[in-house]
Amino acid sequence: MKQQSSFRFINWAKNESCIAQNYFQPETEEELIEVISKSKKVRIVGTGHSWNAICLSADTLINLDYYNKVLHLDKEKLQLKVQPGIKLWQLNEYLQKQGLALKNLGSISRQSLAGAISTGTHGTGINFQILASQIEEFILVKAGGEKVAIHHERDKQLFNLCAVNLGCLGVISEITLNIVPAFNLHDQTEVMNFSEALERLDELINETDHFKLWWFPHTEQVVVYRFTRTNEAVNDSRLRQWFMEEFISVNMYRLLLKVGSIKREWRKGINRTLVRKFIQPLDRIAESFKVFNTPEPPLHREVEWAFDVSVAKDLLREYVSMIGQSKHCINFIQEIRFTKADDYALSPCYGRNTIWLGAYNADNFGWQELKSDFEQLAKKFKGRPHWGKEFGCDKEYLKAMYPKLDAFKTLREQFDPDGKFMNDYVSQIFY
Ligand SMILES: Cc1cc2nc3c(=O)[nH]c(=O)nc-3n(C[C@H](O)[C@H](O)[C@H](O)COP(=O)(O)OP(=O)(O)OC[C@H]3O[C@@H](n4cnc5c(N)ncnc54)[C@H](O)[C@@H]3O)c2cc1C
Repeated sequence: MKQQSSFRFINWAKNESCIAQNYFQPETEEELIEVISKSKKVRIVGTGHSWNAICLSADTLINLDYYNKVLHLDKEKLQLKVQPGIKLWQLNEYLQKQGLALKNLGSISRQSLAGAISTGTHGTGINFQILASQIEEFILVKAGGEKVAIHHERDKQLFNLCAVNLGCLGVISEITLNIVPAFNLHDQTEVMNFSEALERLDELINETDHFKLWWFPHTEQVVVYRFTRTNEAVNDSRLRQWFMEEFISVNMYRLLLKVGSIKREWRKGINRTLVRKFIQPLDRIAESFKVFNTPEPPLHREVEWAFDVSVAKDLLREYVSMIGQSKHCINFIQEIRFTKADDYALSPCYGRNTIWLGAYNADNFGWQELKSDFEQLAKKFKGRPHWGKEFGCDKEYLKAMYPKLDAFKTLREQFDPDGKFMNDYVSQIFY
């Protein structure tokens, strides 16, 4: 087992860091259980793609990069058993070779499977739930080293409490996923006036398998993404993908961000240029994971909250108007996605079909002001924050928004009475 002392952890966004006294990378279940049993305080870190202090620990930090194997594929049952440190991109690659796929994905696949599940990571599609809904069963190693198997049907009540867990119930040591035959997506992308998209919102949400919007602030247009599941053959060219996704998106966008950092007022014009000149209509068919995933974005800050879909139009109108009347100069897309209601205690989609609204900015200029204005609006619309992104924790508000928060807290106290898996991030939510 690899280990280091005084290990410096920095998250993807470089806004959170810590020095962990001990850093372990177990390769076997025995090693994992031994580290958990012997450590006083433990946090687990996947790939550090969370924007907040969720992974931080001054004591023991466990990383499962070497505990990432495929254990068993059952092609008849369409189930795949894996170790938790496997990355979503590794799953995509493995499943593609087998003619299989994950049912739905978020915008990137760099995260570890267990890390993505633990914060309630989601994709888009009003008939599709968050990623945790793809689990058949998982095994959790509790504070004393004992294992519990939790099945989504047989142990429904417990599963619903544990599926989104913020890494504070124990360490997920094995996951069985329900998978699907490989499928392609028909990707129809176009730029539309925001007012038209709002008028047609119900139709776009309900009549598209996977629908999302990107709004470049300070413009009147949105990029409308409509992905439809299909078995028609792939017709997207590798050259186009390279040119648009690796050259234009990655390099040009980064260059324009640099230009916008010289003078903040220029950002408005840059956003308009991006929408008018660079985002071209797209009509292509490609493998599901290639369409779900966007190119690796440049470093940026994010808040994203989940709202009842019934408030979608009012929320979006008010957000656009709030930005228009403010001094904010935002240089990044604002993302709007949709997911189906679920029953998981800590899921931001608990009990309600959801619209997600994310405020993103590529640098720290005005970020705290934007975050604060966003959260004021988000609370007005009874939003729930994404656990893996930035949010100003307001314990009483969270309690009011999550009817099962106390049930989760009680379970946490049963599973981990000495608070081995607690850190400041978890404490501020529950205590
Ligand atoms: C560029 C980018 C794009 C993103 N896109 C999306 C998106 O499209 N949709 C979305 O919803 N989110 C998105 N996110 C957020 C991201 O999916 C979550 O923050 C996710 O939790 C990160 O996974 P990770 O492996 O890096 O986990 P980490 O950030 O390393 O850890 C997250 C949590 O998981 C826990 N954990 C990790 N492994 C285990 C385990 N084995 N057992 C128990 N707990 C464990 C950790 O303790 C911690 O509590 C994005 C983030 C970035 C940086």
